[in-house]
Amino acid sequence: MAGVHHKRGHGGRPAASRTSGLDVQLPVAEMPARGVGGEEAYDLISSELLLDGSARLNLATFVTTSMPERAARLMADTADKNMIDKDEYPQTAEIERRCVNIIANLWHAPAGDDATGCSTTGSSEAVMLGAMALKWRWRARRRAAGLPTDRPNLVMGANVQVCWEKFCRYWDVEARLVPVEGDMLHLTAERAVRYCDENTIGVAAILGSTFDGSYEPVKAIADALDELEARTGLDVPIHVDAASGGFVAPFIQPDLEWDFRIPRVASINASGHKYGLVYPGVGWAVWRDRAALPEELIFDVSYLGGHMPTFSLNFSRPGSEVVAQYYMFTSLGFEGYRNLQQHSSAIAQHLAAGVADIGPYRLVSSGRELPVFAFALDPGVDRYTVFDVSDRLRERGWLVPAYSYPPEREDLSVLRIVVRAGMTFGMADQLLSDLRTKTEALSKLDRPLPETMSGGVRAFRH
Ligand SMILES: *Cc1c(COP(=O)(O)O)cnc(C)c1O
Repeated sequence: MAGVHHKRGHGGRPAASRTSGLDVQLPVAEMPARGVGGEEAYDLISSELLLDGSARLNLATFVTTSMPERAARLMADTADKNMIDKDEYPQTAEIERRCVNIIANLWHAPAGDDATGCSTTGSSEAVMLGAMALKWRWRARRRAAGLPTDRPNLVMGANVQVCWEKFCRYWDVEARLVPVEGDMLHLTAERAVRYCDENTIGVAAILGSTFDGSYEPVKAIADALDELEARTGLDVPIHVDAASGGFVAPFIQPDLEWDFRIPRVASINASGHKYGLVYPGVGWAVWRDRAALPEELIFDVSYLGGHMPTFSLNFSRPGSEVVAQYYMFTSLGFEGYRNLQQHSSAIAQHLAAGVADIGPYRLVSSGRELPVFAFALDPGVDRYTVFDVSDRLRERGWLVPAYSYPPEREDLSVLRIVVRAGMTFGMADQLLSDLRTKTEALSKLDRPLPETMSGGVRAFRH
């Protein structure tokens, strides 16, 4: 983490310059007294970045790794526009507004005037905004009833993405993490309700668990909360963290009710830079209606001599990601998105079936919800672990992460594959063939690998 645990060494990192043929020093801690010039700097830095993994072979990330060339050009063209300068760049602001409307319609927000929502730097910021609105609304309800407001809590599965725990810590809310247990690897309706009480600001339901791509049962959770309200009077809203699923379900599972069709869903976020098909970082937050977003959280910025409401944690950020999102909506249309997501889904299911065929593996999910699946080794395998399989695949360039589930199921370690646009059936078959070869080699070990014996739990978070 640069800046947090930062090595303060002096000097530079030696690098061979192709431009001058000489050895030059890349700065690592101090600003160089004299620069090497634009051409040389470009050459040196782009060479150094070759050490990163190949984005296309990165099956770990949910984030977009390939966009059409024209989109990339449009992004470069608009990188100099500051999203917050609505007054100077009214057309970029208008494009953001159109995107919010398009997304709100995709998620079945009640028809009305303009949708209530905004672009963000990603789902993390969008989650902070959605959860803040829940906290503010809960506090207003409690104050109005003359009840204490000092112990808010938020109910969510222990499989939540780290941004939810961040929200709770930063905004002083108790994180009520419902443990994963047995085969229940995400939040279920019955257990969500058990953790709710009068201090619950909301329930976070995830459309697309980062651990295995499974969808949490938003409708069943809402029904159970309806029943709780009928029984006790407690009215607990839901925020759906649809970071990935928000741009998948509307296209390939249109009948699944997870969005504003459910009255209890107050707000939804998604990452434009995941299945929204845009390079990082853009996210979206949308509220059911104005009533779901407390007025006190909204600030006015000046806009064409008038005012425009904004709600964000950041101030300045580039307009390019929002413009790129609009480009993708315009160029692909609903049908284009549906075709791409269906293709990813078909590849994910093909891969999952192929992995299940390889013998020592057991599927934890099948790629039928998000185009993402996780698989574990059979319990009988004791010479190597999923972490060794991950290392072996990396030798071939494939980045397939291995990680353990949260407490209560830390014993369950899996490999996870995220299929995104840009993956082909040909690549999938190559991956299956490499996995088969590596697994056969590992299966021939006559004793456990040393790191397997140490048995350490390795963490991985995405
Ligand atoms: C990726 C993800 C996030 C964080 O999203 P960013 O866009 O990377 O900030 C939050 N929740 C879920 C479920 C995710 O998959």
